Amino acid sequence: QAKRAGRETLRLFQPAMQQAIDETARREVALRRAVAHGDLQLVYQPQVNRDGLWVGCEALLRWSLLDGTVLSPAQFLPEAETTDLMPKIGDWVVRTACREIASLPKRARAARELVLGINISARQLADPRLIERILAIIQPMRFPPARLRFEISEASLFGDFERNAAILGRLDAAGIEIELDDFGSGYSSLVHLRQLPLAGVKIDQLLIAAVDTDADAAMIVRAAIGVADALSLPVIAEGVERETQRDLLLKMGCSRFQGFLFGRPMPLDTFRRAFETACT
Ligand code: C2E
Ligand code: MG
Ligand code: MG
Ligand code: MG
Repeated sequence: QAKRAGRETLRLFQPAMQQAIDETARREVALRRAVAHGDLQLVYQPQVNRDGLWVGCEALLRWSLLDGTVLSPAQFLPEAETTDLMPKIGDWVVRTACREIASLPKRARAARELVLGINISARQLADPRLIERILAIIQPMRFPPARLRFEISEASLFGDFERNAAILGRLDAAGIEIELDDFGSGYSSLVHLRQLPLAGVKIDQLLIAAVDTDADAAMIVRAAIGVADALSLPVIAEGVERETQRDLLLKMGCSRFQGFLFGRPMPLDTFRRAFETACT
């Protein structure tokens, strides 16, 4: 009886499983082709200081399908992370972002000093050759490591904290600054944070989303900023969409801001024009 039920289940589930496997394989082939054919793009979102001046940008990955659909990282990166594609995509992001940001007109001092934020996933961090790969990309193009800021999410550090702290130490020694992304969403204690060579923290946008409407969110943001203050770390707020959020975060002591209120993620050409307008 049990055996027959088992066989029955198998008969029912096999086609569905096979379909899921086929779909995954198909997506992987498509992504592999996209990487090879240049169908990935970066968009750039401005970051402003307390006076509203452009002081940095974050590079964000997009995948344009042939039918014009644009996929965001959440729709394809998790899958890429389980294949050998992630290091390839990671290298491509660093190379492309540095080249594109270096191509901004350098007349304005602002353009020479614009900091470039690049997201690094847990999987990338686990690559023992990460630092060699990055230096091999930026050194020949003479991109100053001090203008690079790697964004590493708070959650991704705590798998193997000791090991990740050591990797961050080596990035720091190579002159690359590190910002803790999605800060406030969980795990970090003061004791942990003070062991990391951080240049700043980015407060989780889920908290920012409700900072001006929800007392709990406001309290958590205030506490997170308190922790950063204790470590003398500058705080950047991301996902700022409204004046009321910006005003509150200014009062709370945030030093930089990013969000639709200041600019959406833009393709390089649009970013360049907006940057020139913002700087004159
Ligand atoms: P993240 O690093 O926390 O990036 C911030 C996300 O918030 C981006 O989503 C950005 O488009 C979005 N955002 C910015 N301002 C606002 C706003 O005012 N309102 C709202 N609602 N959203 C805003 P995106 O581009 O979909 O990226 C999602 C995540 O994917 C990123 O989160 C990052 O963890 C990851 N990611 C993006 N690009 C890369 C990449 O090149 N490499 C790796 N490893 N991860 C990446
Ligand atoms: Mg980020
Ligand atoms: Mg973030
Ligand atoms: Mg986020």
